[in-house]
Amino acid sequence: MPLKSAPTILSFEAARHVVEEHAARLRPRGKELAELLDSVGQVLAEPVIADRNFPPFPRATRDGYAVQAADLAELPARLDVIGEIKAGADVRLEISRGQAAAIMTGAPAPPGADAVVMVEYTTQTGERVEISKGITAGENIVPAGSEAKRGARLLSPGTRLDHAAIAVAASAGKSRLLVYSRPRVAVLATGDEIVDIDISPATQQIRNSNTYSLAAQIQAAGGEPLLLPIAPDKPGRLRELMIDGMEADLLLLTGGVSMGKYDLVEQVLQDLGAEFFFTGAQIQPGRPVVFGRIPFGAGAPAREVSSGEGSHRYFFGLPGNPISTMVTFELFARPVLEALSGLAPRKLVFLHAQLKSEIKTKTGLKRFLPALLSGEFERAEVELVPWQGSGDIAATARSNCYVVVPPDRDRIPAGEWVPVLPR
Ligand code: AMP
Ligand code: MG
Repeated sequence: MPLKSAPTILSFEAARHVVEEHAARLRPRGKELAELLDSVGQVLAEPVIADRNFPPFPRATRDGYAVQAADLAELPARLDVIGEIKAGADVRLEISRGQAAAIMTGAPAPPGADAVVMVEYTTQTGERVEISKGITAGENIVPAGSEAKRGARLLSPGTRLDHAAIAVAASAGKSRLLVYSRPRVAVLATGDEIVDIDISPATQQIRNSNTYSLAAQIQAAGGEPLLLPIAPDKPGRLRELMIDGMEADLLLLTGGVSMGKYDLVEQVLQDLGAEFFFTGAQIQPGRPVVFGRIPFGAGAPAREVSSGEGSHRYFFGLPGNPISTMVTFELFARPVLEALSGLAPRKLVFLHAQLKSEIKTKTGLKRFLPALLSGEFERAEVELVPWQGSGDIAATARSNCYVVVPPDRDRIPAGEWVPVLPR
């Protein structure tokens, strides 16, 4: 039976936009309270509010002397030192004309002072300090509340908790954070030749690596992988396992999406009532990638729906060639997983590096070729790793990025700056 929806092969950018549009409508599954450090890498589900002014007092940013800038109009200036203010000390003194207070970084600037002169420009003798350099009012003092006022929103829901966000949460006294639960992502490898990794494969058999590379990618993207048993190229069992996979928040299939006689994944998905948004993208590796959704109730049992647009489960049919699986996950499945994990949508951006040696390829497809990013500091260099095509796991493991070759280029000379997708 031919596919209900005609095959739709999109350009890379069009396919990516289709995924982004659907991802933008997805909602995460639920929320949970996490200890601050356990929340690293998860996505914030509550705003973090400033419980006090940031900084809470006018903060000295240098070791030196708190002064009135106007007193330094004529140099050298000589001022009376009326006290010392250490960080953390509750010192109550006020600076008048002709006066200064020794002050340390992180201490509150005293009332009356409008600047802090760095200790490098001063000489203290007894109760007097001589200052050799002028200053403008406001220098080396961060006013109270200038970074954020008490009650202001410091972090918004949808923020991935990286070390900077963790610092903000810590500063606001949050030892626990409300985060979105990690989405559960079912992984279903297909293929009669694919066998579990703990059995001894016959010559014609291939160990299942895609389930494990995907699980690693899912974890890195903030999801929880659910590993299904390997599906043979037989419609009945494939269907059963797909239905199991629909228990998860997202279903990733690998293999069986090409044009071969036993590439049955799309057919079985269609029999389950799937709607296909694309059935291929003009990329290499990964051209046969499939994206769609299955309504509940059609071939699959209706069940409580916790995420997504209500009545559907999204799936990706990723081509089985191991590098195709890896690349198509990063390019297409990741944004859906991120949306399910509560992350605010973001665009894909490539970095740039200078090509070390010429690339020769064919036009027609946007290529993501395994490469090694090297160089140092501002000089990023990249070079393809020799590989045997999209099944070459060993070569890909020696790479650390993909060079992106546009579909209209069959040759890129050494020295050109090329887009790179880091891994
Ligand atoms: P397919 O997409 O099913 O046509 O498979 C393409 C190639 O990828 C074939 O050489 C398969 O043996 C290989 N392959 C498919 N699935 C896996 C898997 N789970 N692990 C390793 N290789 C696979
Ligand atoms: Mg296959």
